Amino acid sequence: MPDDCIFCRIVRGGIPAKIVAESATCIAFRDVHPEAPVHVLVIPREHFASLNDVTNSQVMADMMQLAVDVARKESIAASGYRVVLNTNADGGQTVFHVHAHVLGGRHMKWPPG
Ligand code: AMP
Repeated sequence: MPDDCIFCRIVRGGIPAKIVAESATCIAFRDVHPEAPVHVLVIPREHFASLNDVTNSQVMADMMQLAVDVARKESIAASGYRVVLNTNADGGQTVFHVHAHVLGGRHMKWPPG
């Protein structure tokens, strides 16, 4: 676990976060700068810098399952939501610990800008 990774520090409890849901392998917490009424980040406890670096496909399955659990818990499963993984510079990734944004609670246009 890199010491300088902010999301690893959240996993270790060194930085406070508003935890929404947890599983054995992943945690979900509210984004500090929400872009939608519901904006939750789902991350694996294990550090992978980006989607390109995930070597364990079970981790991705666990992230998607927790994303669905969050959507149900936040009451946006039926109305709809978006799950986004920004990857590297053109994808707009700013935190290099792979994470899925779960966004909902309003209509989102497609394609994104
Ligand atoms: P991305 O641009 O896909 O890498 O998204 C990183 C997200 O992490 C941004 O939406 C930030 O607002 C969010 N973020 C950064 N630091 C924290 C933190 N300490 N707690 C919660 N969310 C954070």
